[in-house]
Amino acid sequence: MGRHYPLRLTSQYYVCIHCKTHLAFKGHLISRDYTGRYGRAALIKKIENVIEMQSVTEEMLSGKYIVRRIHCCRCHANVGWKYVLAYKPSEKYKEGHYILELNASSLIRDEIDANECIIQPPIAFLSSSL
Ligand SMILES: [Zn+2]
Repeated sequence: MGRHYPLRLTSQYYVCIHCKTHLAFKGHLISRDYTGRYGRAALIKKIENVIEMQSVTEEMLSGKYIVRRIHCCRCHANVGWKYVLAYKPSEKYKEGHYILELNASSLIRDEIDANECIIQPPIAFLSSSL
């Protein structure tokens, strides 16, 4: 539905700053123009390897939401939250998406590994010498 966010050719992703667990592909980034609980934050379409806590109602600067805090599945650090429901119609686009605290995560560029890369970069096919 809506816009499509393609993965980049180089595999870049956000990892937990404490234990380096993979949290999100940079290709799922919607905007880095957000503020989290601990400083700068990113709105991300999809986050993996997190535990979602119970839904709570929170009053934020942009309105009232039902959110779930998310914690790294390995070290249990709080890395952000998931927007479950937005009360304001203008904020509905956030529903189902996640806030990732940029102070709790770091962006890394991985070595391209053919076994782990979901979408193969074309160069891998061009350079194969058969
Ligand atoms: Zn962690």
